[in-house]
Amino acid sequence: MSSTKYIFVTGGVVSSLGKGIISSSIGKLLQARGYKITIQKFDPYINIDPGTLNPYEHGECYVTIDGMETDLDLGHYERFTGIQTTRANSMTTGRIYKSVIDKERRGDYLGKTIQVVPHITDEIKRNVRYLGETGDYDFVITEIGGTIGDIESAPFLEAIRQLKWELGRDAVSIHLTYVPYLRAADELKTKPTQHSVKEMLSNGIQPDILILRTEKHLDDAMRSKVAGFCNVDLECVIQSEDLPSIYEVPVNMQRQGLDAAILRKMGIPVGETPQLGPWKKFLELRNAATEEVHIGMVGKYDLQDAYKSINESLSHAATYNNRKIKITFINSEFLTPENLEEQLCGQDGLVICPGFGQRGTEGKILATEYARTHNVPCLGICLGMQMMVIEFARNVLGLTDANSSEMNPDTQYPVIDMMEEQKTIKGLGGTMRLGGYDCELREGSRVRTIYGKDCIVERHRHRYEMNSRYTPDFEAAGMHCVGTNPQTGLAEIVEIPSHRFFIGTQFHPEYQSTVLHPHPLFLAFIEEAKKGNA
Ligand code: GLN
Repeated sequence: MSSTKYIFVTGGVVSSLGKGIISSSIGKLLQARGYKITIQKFDPYINIDPGTLNPYEHGECYVTIDGMETDLDLGHYERFTGIQTTRANSMTTGRIYKSVIDKERRGDYLGKTIQVVPHITDEIKRNVRYLGETGDYDFVITEIGGTIGDIESAPFLEAIRQLKWELGRDAVSIHLTYVPYLRAADELKTKPTQHSVKEMLSNGIQPDILILRTEKHLDDAMRSKVAGFCNVDLECVIQSEDLPSIYEVPVNMQRQGLDAAILRKMGIPVGETPQLGPWKKFLELRNAATEEVHIGMVGKYDLQDAYKSINESLSHAATYNNRKIKITFINSEFLTPENLEEQLCGQDGLVICPGFGQRGTEGKILATEYARTHNVPCLGICLGMQMMVIEFARNVLGLTDANSSEMNPDTQYPVIDMMEEQKTIKGLGGTMRLGGYDCELREGSRVRTIYGKDCIVERHRHRYEMNSRYTPDFEAAGMHCVGTNPQTGLAEIVEIPSHRFFIGTQFHPEYQSTVLHPHPLFLAFIEEAKKGNA
């Protein structure tokens, strides 16, 4: 294709319509036609990145290979399309402003008055085009966070308006809205959609394609009405009904011709509809599975989005193990020695979740002890791995008050500690080990067999590390450090070889599991868990 094409995805009426899933599905469908794609997200909040946000605000913080802390939608982009995103795929209002203000301080604007239009909008446009101009992509899909009509969205809409004008047919606008069903009237209502499109028009943008989120099927008369009122072709009014799984969405979108409609709008020959073979195979496996595998997730955030990537990784792994996943969230804050057995006994496997701060850590340590002593498959991720180390230190090595210096700075046995070079850095920004790091796997270890290679790259997001001073004691007592960073010697993985499955990773394997490439660690974990507690 001669030039890069741009697809803008916005949302109206309400939030949480699944713009991320739609953007990912569009990416998937275009990829299936042989196009190179990337997907980026603009978030309208002022934070520089979501790294400092409480998961209760925006769910999980997703980390890219180059160490950017981003919105969880980037996780969907990677899981659906298998692409690797980077810091260029995630932008916030905060970063846009910061970049403009930095330029202003450097004198780059030569004495001009800095304004939202054109300076902020130009910066947004520059960032939209940046990925396109690398020449690496046929399509750049840009998802705008938030809801149309919010004050925060205005500069983004203005940037899209200008880009659409400049790019002509090389840009399309896809607008996602909501069609509520009124039970009392037994009717679906299109008025909110009409208003949302009016809002778009008042910003100078005519949406080319509308995607209507609905709980009930919309008939053709309804779609025609929307088409007529919103100046959109009938074939460009697509419905997105609730489906049993987000992974059904690309197939549903393809069935209604979303990808074909995009290509037609851009004047690109449509050609044959691709088969989506491996994807459909995954869905078949998923739908065929009847037996359940029960996994307990021990964490402190009682919110479905807080551990999004872990949930998805477990579900990919279950599918490829011909099982239906049944995840039970177990709040570690309320775990006590008295209720431990009752809370954990029904689970085929336990995941000890990542996290920051003291709250809920003692419960995680209890759950870890339970898994270790009852031979229950257990996967500890980041803080979860640290809890495994602490539990082992306390109960096997006899270091009674062993802890992480994050939880207890005065502990006698800081088995998890901050490295010397980090201690001089002040504030919370900039002190984390973020993004991809090499890890060498020990010969003869379980993880080496699982991964089937001797060196891996996995993504990190943490401040504290296993303290190497105690490593010989752990090794001697049966907890092995089987993954090591070759540059720094830091411990990346611990395992207890005598246990059915007891593996803790300082990194986050969940960021790299995708639909077509499920993660080996999760696959192996579920494979062991599904044997049950025989
Ligand atoms: N709080 C721990 C640390 O900073 C673990 C972080 C995490 O689980 N992501 O090292």
